[in-house]
Amino acid sequence: MSKNVLSLKSSRLTGFYKLERGGRLDVLREFSDLPVDQTRLIGQDGSLPFDLANLFIENAIGSYPLPLGIATNFKINNKDYIVPMAVEESSVLAAASNAAKVIYDSGGFKTKSLSSLMIGQIQLLDIHPSDFNQVEVLIDLNKTKLLQLADETHPRLKMRGGGARDIEVRSFPDAEIPFMVLHVLLDTQEAMGANIVNTVCERLAPEIEKITGCRVGLKILSNFADRKIFQAKCQIKSSLLAINETHLNLSGEDVAKRIVEAFVFADNDIYRATTHNKGIMNGVDPIAIATGNDWRAIEAGAHAYAAHRGRYRSLSKWSLLPNGDLEGELNIPLQLGTVGGVTRLHPMARLSLQILGNPRSDELGQIMASAGLATNLSALRALVTTGIQRGHMRMHAKNLALAAGAHGEEIEQLANLLVAEQKVSATAAEKVLIGIRERNQGTFDLESPPL
Ligand code: NDP
Repeated sequence: MSKNVLSLKSSRLTGFYKLERGGRLDVLREFSDLPVDQTRLIGQDGSLPFDLANLFIENAIGSYPLPLGIATNFKINNKDYIVPMAVEESSVLAAASNAAKVIYDSGGFKTKSLSSLMIGQIQLLDIHPSDFNQVEVLIDLNKTKLLQLADETHPRLKMRGGGARDIEVRSFPDAEIPFMVLHVLLDTQEAMGANIVNTVCERLAPEIEKITGCRVGLKILSNFADRKIFQAKCQIKSSLLAINETHLNLSGEDVAKRIVEAFVFADNDIYRATTHNKGIMNGVDPIAIATGNDWRAIEAGAHAYAAHRGRYRSLSKWSLLPNGDLEGELNIPLQLGTVGGVTRLHPMARLSLQILGNPRSDELGQIMASAGLATNLSALRALVTTGIQRGHMRMHAKNLALAAGAHGEEIEQLANLLVAEQKVSATAAEKVLIGIRERNQGTFDLESPPL
């Protein structure tokens, strides 16, 4: 059940958002058993040393900090997590934490990894479609030898329990230039595996040319990772969804039904589905960024997967249980690692993994899928009840206040006025700020505004 912020080791933290930064860090330190050097790092606000930035990318000139926050209340397969998220968009952490709270109080997320293979593609050219069958037979006859060669390319991967698992053949006889593709399926263990897969494909290419007599074209990883799928599910007690406000009273059953209607909308209409799935990625991407994972690969894979049944659909599914409770499910491909890339090199990525208890990559994928389902639930619940703008506008008003030049206490004051007067715009912010300053005249020193 709900715990006070001082009751540590439970992620179900009431009022975390009300704490000052020091209090939040105390909770984090206790929950995640952070070593002292990691704790100091947070105090440095995540700035990346230039020598590392210069190592990661070409033409580096500095680093670009993003806000890093903690989403609370996550219980996944009966284990509590507080989840680091790096994101610039307001409301994302509140949405994740609020939905995770409702799900926590309904028993938490149930998750699993449905498959865990990365795909490398090798394109075969200069083949007449009448020879496609023969090429397929040749690949089949030499499959064991090719898999062995793939494993020899990366012997340590095999030693770790990973390695090449299968080779599949796909044909495109009706393309403008007919071609075939070999899919090399690899278990890359804790790594995302992009470089591992690419190395294996390049190593196999000359051997495949020898075996088939075809010319090899591209040899590259596929970001359509439909063999690396993570599933998150939840069953929510409908009573926890009820809305009782001055202008809006809805039973939990009604809210649950409306959420299912909203899912049907997304599942049938690409215009809605794209926004719906963006809301899912609001939970997924910030964890990918915080842990140093390749979020472009994850984004590309997720949206392609949304279209894998012939048209672009909802990645999540919401349905009613016979007792009126709500069931949610998200299946999402996630190309991620807990080693490789910058995951162990970027100090903030290392810190984020530490906050999560240094999960294996399978576990990290399940956390990301849960966060995606959580932000999806929050967005749907708001959309079918009070509307999305109310929460967003509060945070947006603060950004507008900052942009208008508000300082210190003026920010909260100005944001509150904008929301109360329902005038959340840049022009209004500038005008209202002048009014506030006129009223505060004498107490506010324009020469040296507080920082
Ligand atoms: P790396 O190239 O950094 O390789 C990961 C390495 O980690 C492995 O080769 C292995 O090396 C080592 N390792 C240590 N422990 C383990 C373990 N338990 N399991 C597996 N490997 C382990 O990373 P990836 O191959 O994962 O590639 C990811 C990077 O590639 C990302 O930065 C991504 O942005 C980028 N990329 C993405 C592309 C795309 O998405 N299309 C294309 C190309 C690159 P050893 O065996 O020697 O110890």
